[in-house]
Amino acid sequence: MVEKKVDKRKVKEVKSKAKTKKVKEDKEVVETGDEDVKEEEVIEGRDEGDGGDEGDEGVEGAESVEEGDGAEEGAEEDVVMQLSDLPGVGPAAVEKLEAAGIFDLMGVAVMSPKGLGDAAGMGESAARKAIQAARQMMDLGFQDGLEFAEKRKEIFNITTGSKELDGLLGGKGIETKAITEAFGAYGSGKTQLGLSLAVNTQLPLEQGGAEGKAVYIDTEGTFRPDRVKEIAEGKGLNADGVLKNILVARAFNSDHQILLIDKVGELVKNGEPIRMVIIDSLTAHFRAEFSGRGQLADRQQKLNRYLHNLMKMGEQFNLAIYVTNQVMANPAMMFGDPTTAIGGNIVGHASTYRMYIRRGKKGSRVAKLIDSPNLPDNECLFFITEKGVVDEE
Ligand code: ADP
Ligand code: MG
Repeated sequence: MVEKKVDKRKVKEVKSKAKTKKVKEDKEVVETGDEDVKEEEVIEGRDEGDGGDEGDEGVEGAESVEEGDGAEEGAEEDVVMQLSDLPGVGPAAVEKLEAAGIFDLMGVAVMSPKGLGDAAGMGESAARKAIQAARQMMDLGFQDGLEFAEKRKEIFNITTGSKELDGLLGGKGIETKAITEAFGAYGSGKTQLGLSLAVNTQLPLEQGGAEGKAVYIDTEGTFRPDRVKEIAEGKGLNADGVLKNILVARAFNSDHQILLIDKVGELVKNGEPIRMVIIDSLTAHFRAEFSGRGQLADRQQKLNRYLHNLMKMGEQFNLAIYVTNQVMANPAMMFGDPTTAIGGNIVGHASTYRMYIRRGKKGSRVAKLIDSPNLPDNECLFFITEKGVVDEE
């Protein structure tokens, strides 16, 4: 019943959580960097500031988030045990643990009794019992190769439209049960890739699709139905049919964005054949809402939790998750491309595949894979045309 996958990603995730202190390290870069980014935004006239204004929706959203916590009840075949299922761990302890960046059993299973005791405000012997229970529930250890292979078989790959870019990402494009992040400057092509993926998800398996629907969470108001139609027609598809299979939601603030993840879970449980979730952009609201000095740790914690839930959703429902992220100037970097992704290590650790996109020569785009656990840090070229993302102009 309990999920017992202990793959690289999970371990990586746990490591990143163990390092909640790292946030401090990010702080300097992020805070100094933010000033540059704000200037950039003004120049581009994109300072919509919608994060703060639609407060009403936010309140509603926040309330429903609370209710949404129960959404997991419905997942009967695939019950995911939670912190509150541990003996001696009540709501107050859960709150403390989450504040310390520990959101799941794995986080507890790798702790020491003293560490857990301190973090959750409980006695050491109670903490020891909770850790033992977490380890048992997790069934920490091994699954046989066959079991592992069966799990891998469930994974779909969805083509980006470019063989080069698919190759960069391991051969067949964006993968389900994984988060693929694209970061880059304004106009680099992150949204265009998202729109292309929303179309490609619907293609037959033999054409690199997943014969499924896509969810598009639009935080910046840049989803363009006409552009989707153009891409669909460029591939010889029925434009309205394609548009109908993309479920679009405009997220008005970060709480709303978080709430929408629960909604996606509900849609899947109601039988919607969703295979792809696009979040464009992952970080914009978070950055706008937590812009003050001293708010960085809060922002990173909220983002961390959100990413964690995204990954959980991707694994539970076998979804590909594509997120876009902005860049800011990194003053610490004197040579080379002076940009770095918003959200720092938190987003970096949570993304299974992370690529940096920029404009190249002659209208091309350059994608560079960064810090992938199982692929080399290569680069490739692709193009954006009326057909969306392609190999050649
Ligand atoms: P980002 O989301 O990274 O800010 P976009 O994905 O919106 O950037 O990329 C916008 C760019 O995509 C445009 O500047 C243009 O170069 C290219 N683009 C958009 N639509 C088309 C099209 N129909 N044909 C060719 N290129 C396009
Ligand atoms: Mg965009």
